[in-house]
Amino acid sequence: MILTASSSTKDLLTLPLHHVPQTLLFAPIKPEQRKKMPILIIHDDNHLPHSIYAIPEQENLKYAFHVLGEGKPETYSLAPKIVDQYFNIQSKVELTSSCFYTTTPDKAPIIGPVKAFGNRVIIGAGFQGNGFKMSLGVGDLLASFALEEKIQEDYSRFSPDRFSKELSLAK
Ligand SMILES: Cc1cc2nc3c(=O)[nH]c(=O)nc-3n(C[C@H](O)[C@H](O)[C@H](O)COP(=O)(O)OP(=O)(O)OC[C@H]3O[C@@H](n4cnc5c(N)ncnc54)[C@H](O)[C@@H]3O)c2cc1C
Repeated sequence: MILTASSSTKDLLTLPLHHVPQTLLFAPIKPEQRKKMPILIIHDDNHLPHSIYAIPEQENLKYAFHVLGEGKPETYSLAPKIVDQYFNIQSKVELTSSCFYTTTPDKAPIIGPVKAFGNRVIIGAGFQGNGFKMSLGVGDLLASFALEEKIQEDYSRFSPDRFSKELSLAK
């Protein structure tokens, strides 16, 4: 059985999968601005509480802080100012939306079979903000675990067994 129900996986097996809320901000941009704007990732440890990513969409610049673990309190009071300070597009946030990252205590995903269940239960969860880009490889790897194929690389750092103390059937 392969379980890939994100944080709901812990409804079946007690695993330390946590929700970390994320807020997305949308500021309108003009077509000529959009054409010139790349997809950005900004790391500025001296001035920003978390790194930022920004993606120009059809009518808006979408951006967000990449918050793992505890969000720092100043994060969202800073968010509107980011448009002026980093993007220089003379716009302001008109829309926000929210979603969750699913994280683990060591910030690495949980991928692999569970020894306590005779390696018959295989988990793929806890991908934080990186699940899309890894989905083809992770899907392939989960299938290989299920088919008990020989896997060359060492994926033990992602094993669910690293949480074996916490691991049991959820009540
Ligand atoms: C704002 C935001 C931006 C992101 N940007 C990126 C990005 O640019 N690049 C990137 O790589 N990743 C990005 N991610 C992360 C990416 O979305 C996740 O890592 C990825 O979706 C996780 O995949 P998943 O299959 O583990 O979980 P999910 O995509 O959440 O899928 C879990 C599925 O399980 C189903 N499910 C849950 N409970 C049950 C149940 N009890 N029974 C049956 N089905 C159930 C759900 O309906 C859902 O379909 C972003 C995430 C957020 C929130």
